[in-house]
Amino acid sequence: MSNDFSLDEVIRKVPDFPKPGILFYDITGILVNPKAFKYCIDMMVKLYKGLELDALAAIESRGFVFAAPLAERLGVPLILIRKKGKLPGDTYSCKYALEYGFAEIEVHKADVQRGQKILIIDDLIATGGTLKAAQNVLEQGGANVLGFFGIVGLPFLNYQKVLDPVPVKTLIDYNAE
Ligand code: AMP
Repeated sequence: MSNDFSLDEVIRKVPDFPKPGILFYDITGILVNPKAFKYCIDMMVKLYKGLELDALAAIESRGFVFAAPLAERLGVPLILIRKKGKLPGDTYSCKYALEYGFAEIEVHKADVQRGQKILIIDDLIATGGTLKAAQNVLEQGGANVLGFFGIVGLPFLNYQKVLDPVPVKTLIDYNAE
């Protein structure tokens, strides 16, 4: 596994985006660096290949980018969780609070199977509100969430408390803004 770079060096930190007071961790620097992107996917495979997963679920939109190669590598279905109004079929939905504002997410009812064991993927975990809402929509369909994953974690925002008792894994954490 190639690791001749620092993940921290390829994650850009943008102050006051999208609102004053928010330090935005921009993962696009990972995507334009093939070694960094491969490192992330290899690490995710290593973390989850032993887990008996039935599916991955990914959060729009940056979660999609990391979940799609992982789903292909693990040979499991990929369920897309999208912002309200984007999915054409019948959906389960959940409203939630973001670190900056409010949102509502949805999943196709037809994509979720009762009893399915699912890992949920996003690019970054801040308050954990988005992942909690994603768990809610999947559980409306009778699925079980086995884990949460983010490339970046902001544990000082106490996401683990929100997401307990489901285990959370990240590749890099930032402990203060
Ligand atoms: P949260 O629900 O608070 O855990 O927020 C997570 C979602 O919002 C993820 O989809 C992130 O992409 C985005 N997000 C929240 N805070 C930040 C931040 N400081 N930098 C980059 N993305 C963020």
